[in-house]
Amino acid sequence: MLCENCRLGTTVEISLNIGGHNVTLRSCSHCEKRIWNADGDSVEVSEVLTLATALRR
Ligand SMILES: [Zn+2]
Repeated sequence: MLCENCRLGTTVEISLNIGGHNVTLRSCSHCEKRIWNADGDSVEVSEVLTLATALRR
């Protein structure tokens, strides 16, 4: 998939399951832009970390 940020690189998609949430990371090989998605909504990496941290409680 073509990167939405630089439109030069292609993105690699990695799917994770964090605390029952479908989290997807799209990472660009060219500009290294990382786009996180949780349950179909784009989220900031801090929100993903919050999900991951919540698991340890
Ligand atoms: Zn890019």
